[in-house]
Amino acid sequence: MTATHSTRMLILGSGPAGLSAAIYGARAGLAPIVVQGIQPGGQLTTTTDVENYPGFREVIQGPWLMQEMQAQAEHVGAQMMWDTIVEVDVTQRPFRMVGDSGTVYTGDTLVIATGAQARWLGLDSEELLKGKGVSACATCDGFFFRGKKVAVIGGGNTAVEEALYLTNHSHDVTLIHRRDTLRAEKILQQRLFANERITMAWNKEVVRFIGGGQPEGLVAIELRDTVTGALSTLEVDGGFVAIGHHPATELFRGHIALDDDGYIQVEKGTTNTSVPGVFACGDVMDKHYRQAITAAGTGCMAALDAERFLAAADFETVAQAAE
Ligand code: FAD
Ligand code: NAP
Repeated sequence: MTATHSTRMLILGSGPAGLSAAIYGARAGLAPIVVQGIQPGGQLTTTTDVENYPGFREVIQGPWLMQEMQAQAEHVGAQMMWDTIVEVDVTQRPFRMVGDSGTVYTGDTLVIATGAQARWLGLDSEELLKGKGVSACATCDGFFFRGKKVAVIGGGNTAVEEALYLTNHSHDVTLIHRRDTLRAEKILQQRLFANERITMAWNKEVVRFIGGGQPEGLVAIELRDTVTGALSTLEVDGGFVAIGHHPATELFRGHIALDDDGYIQVEKGTTNTSVPGVFACGDVMDKHYRQAITAAGTGCMAALDAERFLAAADFETVAQAAE
């Protein structure tokens, strides 16, 4: 027989957004269920040092932070499910989801916190040197390259913003782009070209990241000219891949409004999606900030929005019954 779990607040995703929603939802008495997905704890479980999450004077470890967040959510009454949602029905309340285990989950409200994943170049050397000089987040890791030479790969808004951000830490930033024009907005391009700390490497693609294990890490990037085919080597300590992100929203396409880049659309200043009673928080609805603290912040907002939604819906039900 198919198992069914029902809750006032069903949360998809167990990164900082989902777990923060769970903490607030549990403390509001909504007994949330969190379906954790294939990456319990979310993206921060794939990193080591975290130095910008408030509350910790010393550097903390990403996996440890997420274990603590989960323990806190469970401590206040949230229930964790080791399952991944594969089917969604938001046409009526309670919303109905099916996990790949076959388990059915129903929620009077739904909080989507399925996050996003950085796109990578797909090179073996990139995989080997991730976290050892190769990163996909300048805001997260730029600080570790103070006074060192760094490069950013990409030509969109993210790449340009990351290059500009890195000039706070480094005098020598190279932006590597595979074409001779940028996709980024003109205003960002103007700021980029005006910045003396940034050098452009036009028409270049990465052949491989060069380096070894700790403490050496990344030492250089081998480049190929996309016009002439000529190979060259750029000596750097840090390489930031900024070629876009994939929000985890395929499941919701056709059910909930997404923007042109596939992120869940929310009403400005809230976490309300196009479906009343469905809320979205964290990287799945945020392509600008993409930080643990902003994910946690919008997770809190989603739980508060859901709680208010339920209070209004309950009030209406009572009022109708009294008529
Ligand atoms: P995520 O953390 O992406 O979590 C998404 C969750 O959704 C996961 O639990 C996943 O299993 C679940 N899920 C997905 N699909 C389904 C499904 N179908 N059913 C159920 N569950 C599902 N930020 C910082 O602030 N500081 C840092 O130092 C920092 N370092 C980083 C280092 C690395 C290597 C990376 C990749 C990111 C880093 N970030 C950092 C960014 C930060 O991790 C993210 O902004 C944050 O994790 C986003 O949280 P989230 O809860 O929105 O989503
Ligand atoms: P993007 O706009 O899709 O740009 C990706 C860049 O990476 C492109 O320049 C692309 O090159 C390059 N690229 C893709 N695959 C590559 C590969 N395999 N090898 C080398 N280069 C590769 O992604 P984004 O910059 O992350 O932006 C995503 C969305 O968020 C956009 O809509 C953007 O406007 C928005 N955003 C806005 C802001 C802001 O408003 N401040 C900030 C960040 C992001 P080509 O140009 O050759 O295709």
